[in-house]
Amino acid sequence: MKLSGSLPMAAILFLLALAAFRSLDATLGFHAGLLSGYILYEFLHLGAHAHWRVPGLRYMHRQHLMHHFGDSQRTFGVTSPLWDWVFGTLPPKRDHTAHRLRKTAATRRPESQR
Ligand SMILES: [Zn+2]
Repeated sequence: MKLSGSLPMAAILFLLALAAFRSLDATLGFHAGLLSGYILYEFLHLGAHAHWRVPGLRYMHRQHLMHHFGDSQRTFGVTSPLWDWVFGTLPPKRDHTAHRLRKTAATRRPESQR
């Protein structure tokens, strides 16, 4: 999300938390946790798009590409298929294979960049 969208959203969430907690200390603590989680999410999102080769995150990368480039009526999970499994929106097995082939073709770098 762009900063022009993130800042108003953060301000609205801050005010909602302040109204709910009725304590500036509790609101600041809640907001610090919320912003930390958001920054971690954006960092991992950047890594997923930048093809970082991090052991253990390869599955998340594959899931994220399916989220962006797969069936628009399925694969809503950004990093995990958990909620797609719960709500029955996992893509059929054949889509996994087709996506794997597309991903392999899309991530190949030209010889000049190796
Ligand atoms: Zn993305």
